[in-house]
Amino acid sequence: MGTSTTPEILSYHFPKEVEEQINNSSGYLFQTIENADGVPYQLIFGKEIGEGYFQNVGEGIKYLLGINPKELTEQYFHQMIQEIFPLTEGIPADKEEWRHQIKEGKISRYKAEILVKTSDGSKKWIKDTSIAIFDNKTGKVIGLSGIMFDISKQRNILRQLKTARERATESDRLKTAFLNNLSHEIRTPLNAIVGFTTLLGEPGSENKNKMDFMEIITHSSDHLLEIVDDIVEISKIETKIVRLICKETNLNEMVQRVYNRFRDAAAEKNIELKYEDLMKDEQVIIITDGYKLFQSLTNLVGNAVKFTKEGSVEFGFHVKDEKIQFFVCDTGIGIGKEHKPHIFNPFYQAESSSTQRYDGTGLGLSIAKAYIELLGGQIWFSSEAGIGSIFCFSIPDTR
Ligand code: ADP
Repeated sequence: MGTSTTPEILSYHFPKEVEEQINNSSGYLFQTIENADGVPYQLIFGKEIGEGYFQNVGEGIKYLLGINPKELTEQYFHQMIQEIFPLTEGIPADKEEWRHQIKEGKISRYKAEILVKTSDGSKKWIKDTSIAIFDNKTGKVIGLSGIMFDISKQRNILRQLKTARERATESDRLKTAFLNNLSHEIRTPLNAIVGFTTLLGEPGSENKNKMDFMEIITHSSDHLLEIVDDIVEISKIETKIVRLICKETNLNEMVQRVYNRFRDAAAEKNIELKYEDLMKDEQVIIITDGYKLFQSLTNLVGNAVKFTKEGSVEFGFHVKDEKIQFFVCDTGIGIGKEHKPHIFNPFYQAESSSTQRYDGTGLGLSIAKAYIELLGGQIWFSSEAGIGSIFCFSIPDTR
């Protein structure tokens, strides 16, 4: 029995020309790199940094940097570089310093992620990995041999993941703040209901007092109901089970109803509540989900009244660009710059950080936004702290 080695194969020689072809394999290597979506290159240094030229550059450079292989110079490439993030420890991020150290032989290889601005102005992330080329005689570094990869997609995915993680953390924080807030929000009206109901039952209270107690109980019950409704509604919105029920809706009537709802609250605070002159009745009947529209306008006007200490709240609508555009304008506390990007997030309350407390759960605007978008519209606002706010939204004109 022979051994397991196969002398026939070990001693086999390809014909000479085939062996030469295999030995001269740089062409295959080149193609292999390109096949792996890499762009091979060699950079031969010039006298000064930035005076080098590229050779043996893969055709893929056209797609990567938008430039023909022959046109690529070191200077051109340097101009494209926006930022360098070295992946190897000890490599400087400054491109001049980095090139200097390579030329001096202090670094013989590097890997970096580089943000480049390509010839058409678009930005791309590339991974550049290269090793020094030495002059066989002098031992000096004369250039670099490397590969560039387009990593823009991976970078984008990473960025999206990061944003998603930040959102999840923020939403977690908001929910915790909401739960803490919720116990206060629910307890306040509940305590009032329980307390004043007990007082009602006690003998000796005068009728006038009883009327006052009844009013407090009614107000607290309404408020409690609103809180519970908001929580149920936002859960429905988040689980996407909210449906539109569209029918003829008279916008004049709706504005009047919203006005009636907040007239007393505004009068109590001594602020002027008014609505813009309405259009003729027959012009303002649209097909929409009246409940959701009413609720959205109510939330905005409610906020305007709540966050205004003096001055006025004005609201209304007009027809613009085949859309019905509503506005709610107030001279209230306004919204600080730092809060603006967040106020439509569920549970977000700008005032939760300040000493002043306002009623609310931080759900009104997110519900309004979700409803308006469901109605095929958009919502936006502009506001200045200490001056006031204007919230606008538009919905399709379905008259
Ligand atoms: P809330 O129940 O707290 O009113 P919202 O979702 O309706 O919740 O509003 C979120 C936050 O946006 C409010 O807590 C407040 O900080 C800010 N905000 C909304 N409308 C106004 C307004 N008209 N003026 C000032 N701040 C406002």
